[in-house]
Amino acid sequence: MVESLKIEVQRAKRSRLEEVDFDHLPFGKVYTDHMFMADFRDGEWLNPRIVPYGKITVSPATPAIHYGQSIFEGLKAHRGPSAEALVFRPHDNWLRLNRSAERMCMAPVPEDLFMDSLTELSDEYIGIRPSLSFTYMVILSPVGFYYSQPLKVRIETHFTRAAQGGTGYAKAGGNYGGAIYPAKLAQADGYDQLIWTDARDHQYIEESGTMNVMFVIDGTLVTPALSDSILAGITRDSVLTIARSWHMPVEERKVTVKEVIAAAERGTLTEAFGVGTAATIAPIESLGFEDRDYVLPASTKTAFSRRVYDELNGIKHGARPDKFGWVLKI
Ligand SMILES: *Cc1c(COP(=O)(O)O)cnc(C)c1O
Repeated sequence: MVESLKIEVQRAKRSRLEEVDFDHLPFGKVYTDHMFMADFRDGEWLNPRIVPYGKITVSPATPAIHYGQSIFEGLKAHRGPSAEALVFRPHDNWLRLNRSAERMCMAPVPEDLFMDSLTELSDEYIGIRPSLSFTYMVILSPVGFYYSQPLKVRIETHFTRAAQGGTGYAKAGGNYGGAIYPAKLAQADGYDQLIWTDARDHQYIEESGTMNVMFVIDGTLVTPALSDSILAGITRDSVLTIARSWHMPVEERKVTVKEVIAAAERGTLTEAFGVGTAATIAPIESLGFEDRDYVLPASTKTAFSRRVYDELNGIKHGARPDKFGWVLKI
């Protein structure tokens, strides 16, 4: 066990808690009263602190702004049976944060700094800058559902999210700005989201940009194998782990657009869904490809996506056994 860091705490003068309508929470609009910050200067992390949530001032020369040298993580905490805060697989987020940092030439965040920032900030109530100095920040936001309905997605065969040899596997700021425009075009055509394909041939399914994607074809759970252009989702790994523990056949491999469309036409594609921390398990109701929409069977109570959602949600809330040691109580 690492020793706790000395974290300076400056409390907010007034809490905004009363203003929050917890029964109608939007996604990503409400932030808590406090945030965590630490600065990397001259080779070390300094001044870990909890301060009132608010704007930050940065130099106009900040490389994060010009060159996208910024990375982030996203994880959720849920209330357990005794109202305790349960955080899902934070150690895996820490590992991935540092894989992203390495790819983007940024300072790694030590395990104790990462874990203490979570436990201290969540207990009482998320960072970055130029080439030699960085800021690590933690912010918290109580959230509602990311998607409230099954998704209509379009398989994107023109634009590219990430290329082989690029930064797609890192949660790096620069991976996301370029995806906004193609997503907006798809939305104008009535879709909720895109499914990206490989940059070279646009023949292989990649992921959805905020979620990894999975298919159930002929009773087998099929998902694209990880590569340097796919973000290694912790939800993805959790769903695969649960599926294997249920002895469901699982295939992690290259998945062609062609086979998914052929399975949809044959009726052997019984489920498609996105998996990610924000969206949890997001069922897909139709796949758009080359001017046609392939409608999937409606999700049933016994669908794999439903059962795995219930299992994962149960584990996250402390209502089902944490067989894999995924939950950190803080
Ligand atoms: C964060 C993210 C995911 C989902 O990862 P989780 O760890 O499950 O939240 C998938 N794709 C991209 C591009 C992401 O940034």
